[in-house]
Amino acid sequence: MSTAGPDESTVRVALRIRPQQAREKIEGCHICTCVTPGEPQVILGKDKAFTFDYVFDIDSQQDAIYSACTEKLIEGCFDGYNATIFAYGQTGAGKTYTMGTGFDVSIGENELGIIPRAVKHLYKGIDERKQAAIEQGLPPPEFKVNAQFLELYNEEVLDLFDTTRDIELRKQKSHIKIHEDANGGIYTVGVTTRTVNTEAEMIQCLKLGALSRTTASTQMNVQSSRSHAIFTIHLCQVRVCANAENQDNETDNRIMDGSSQMNEFETLTAKFHFVDLAGSERLKRTGATGERAKEGISINCGLLALGNVISALGDKSKKSSHVPYRDSKLTRLLQDSLGGNSQTVMIACISPSDRDFMETLNALKYANRAR
Ligand code: ADP
Ligand code: MG
Repeated sequence: MSTAGPDESTVRVALRIRPQQAREKIEGCHICTCVTPGEPQVILGKDKAFTFDYVFDIDSQQDAIYSACTEKLIEGCFDGYNATIFAYGQTGAGKTYTMGTGFDVSIGENELGIIPRAVKHLYKGIDERKQAAIEQGLPPPEFKVNAQFLELYNEEVLDLFDTTRDIELRKQKSHIKIHEDANGGIYTVGVTTRTVNTEAEMIQCLKLGALSRTTASTQMNVQSSRSHAIFTIHLCQVRVCANAENQDNETDNRIMDGSSQMNEFETLTAKFHFVDLAGSERLKRTGATGERAKEGISINCGLLALGNVISALGDKSKKSSHVPYRDSKLTRLLQDSLGGNSQTVMIACISPSDRDFMETLNALKYANRAR
């Protein structure tokens, strides 16, 4: 039996406080966050206390966040559990750094974010499982890994693996649809799916998509911080049934004889969504009007719907009743990977500086609803 499945709570929430940037120091910003020693609690300003599943203070390293928030989710995928990990927070709070998709600067191994680490873990896990089966005289499991990379902008879905340079042309071509199958599984039609065989290839895909996101936002004359980026890894595994190992000796011997017909096989599929959410800042501060304001409303619609879904999932009394997945493309797309048997982690990213106090307070309140 699998032990890597989801634990009691469907959604776990981590808080990450990024270090102050040089500019914030120069401009005399003060640090207004304080982590309670030995507790996953942060105090904002004098007395606004919030407790989460994990709190990572200013000096936390990427590997600590990976081990606490993602490692188990990858293990769960090998047992067929879907997973979603979100980075939430205002622009500049560290979402992309935490996810590890900022490829504009080259960084050291210890600075790698969640996605590159998860990719490494995934391919290592595949090799280990094949090796273990061979050592037990069993046929090695077969794996197929696919990737998709979507951007949600104004309730519009863009394919980041589509290499059409002209964004208008790309939009015209794209007829991406989100569907639900008879078992409640969500699938998309019209999205580029890449089969990826190695860690290096997957990182290449990730870079390609990240570049495509920048190009698209430049051409549309919008900030990529106003869109959600969703990188999805699909894992399909065909392996000897787990219970076949526990069958009586006679069967075991026949497996050892190498007659593979005696084995029963099972197919397990899982998907892992890595979501770099749109900036959570409210519009007032940027003084947005017209088009920009419309974008903001639409993006807030995704974040709003996500907040409602996650809060409904966390509310035990509501669990069996209505979860409003259909209120936005974001929640619709992630429907079968949020709640239920899937594992969900939200990482709320915040700035420590006092000038971001109000945005930080809003982010903490949002993240708090998820618990
Ligand atoms: P967001 O994606 O939320 O807009 P970024 O991830 O781009 O924010 O972070 C803004 C800046 O802060 C980037 O230059 C990034 O490298 C830096 N940064 C964010 N988090 C950290 C961290 N934990 N340690 C060091 N630098 C960080
Ligand atoms: Mg970003």
